[in-house]
Amino acid sequence: MLQKVVIIGAGSVGATFAYALMQGGQAREIVFIDSNMERAKGEVMDLQHGLAFTRPVSIRYGDYPECANADVVVVTAGAKQKPGESRLALAGRNAEILKGIVPPVTGSGFGGVLLIVSNPVDVLTHIAWKISGLPAGRVIGSGTVLDSARLRSLLSEHCGVDARNIHAMIIGEHGDSEVAAWSLVSIGGVPIREYCRACSLYTDGKDHFQALFEEVKHAAYEIIIRKGATFYAIGLALVQITDAILRDEHRVLPVSSVVQGMYGMEETTISLPSVIGKNGVERVLMPELEVTEVEALRKSAETINESVKIILKSDI
Ligand code: NAD
Repeated sequence: MLQKVVIIGAGSVGATFAYALMQGGQAREIVFIDSNMERAKGEVMDLQHGLAFTRPVSIRYGDYPECANADVVVVTAGAKQKPGESRLALAGRNAEILKGIVPPVTGSGFGGVLLIVSNPVDVLTHIAWKISGLPAGRVIGSGTVLDSARLRSLLSEHCGVDARNIHAMIIGEHGDSEVAAWSLVSIGGVPIREYCRACSLYTDGKDHFQALFEEVKHAAYEIIIRKGATFYAIGLALVQITDAILRDEHRVLPVSSVVQGMYGMEETTISLPSVIGKNGVERVLMPELEVTEVEALRKSAETINESVKIILKSDI
């Protein structure tokens, strides 16, 4: 079976994702589509020159008919945040771009999973779902997979434990209203609060959680101020999501998808732990959260929905 991934947007995120994907060896075909054909061509040439060091994969640029038999179409096209700009401020500009992208993808006869990465990712995932007419599970956003990885890496550094042994999840919006689900965090099976109490580092009795969470929330701003864009960690996060689809892994990741009635939320597109397989989101899980976490999650959903409403009103 051909494992084909089409990447729409051969910019920093799209190219870095392709670079990570080709090293994983899972995809057999990687195709770039970009309104800037020369950019796509340049990335293809550069990546192709690495093929002597990876498993065989066809890397090329093309056009929308390539989506017809793709397993995953990943949308990384669009404007990125300017220094200090919130993700939601990007919404109008990128929704307009998405409006030009989704119809030719679905019009190709696409039968795979549409993975949205461009920001604000939750709002754009919702808009993409609306425009596409695809089942909700097949239109997913990269959501808070990156934010959760950031939290795990900070906890790893703080606690001196391998990030892979830290279970932690950011849920809600991929943005300022996101929620750290501390009640779900555990290290080696030990709930984080218990772990902290028993830890030799826990001397001052201070709650370090909030400081770590603030660092996660501001990570993108801090990186963008320094280097103009974030792309390495998101590139790796996208490989995890894509692999879960290509390999039908049933892996649980906090991707963004349309949900209704969960935790008392209206219909919204938001990140919650989700089981991912070849058809995208197969099931959204609803772990027990603390009351304050549920309240924050509902607020986060309202933030996303307000932005979606503004964009839908402006005839997108
Ligand atoms: P970039 O400017 O480097 O690349 C964007 C690419 O999109 C360019 O190559 C451009 O030519 C292309 N493009 C623009 N309009 C297009 C269209 N209509 N059709 C096809 N291609 C088009 O930007 P980047 O740094 O790669 O970021 C891309 C997006 O990813 C941004 O919206 C950014 O905010 C987002 N992002 C999301 C996450 C996440 O966690 N969800 C993380 C990092 C970046």
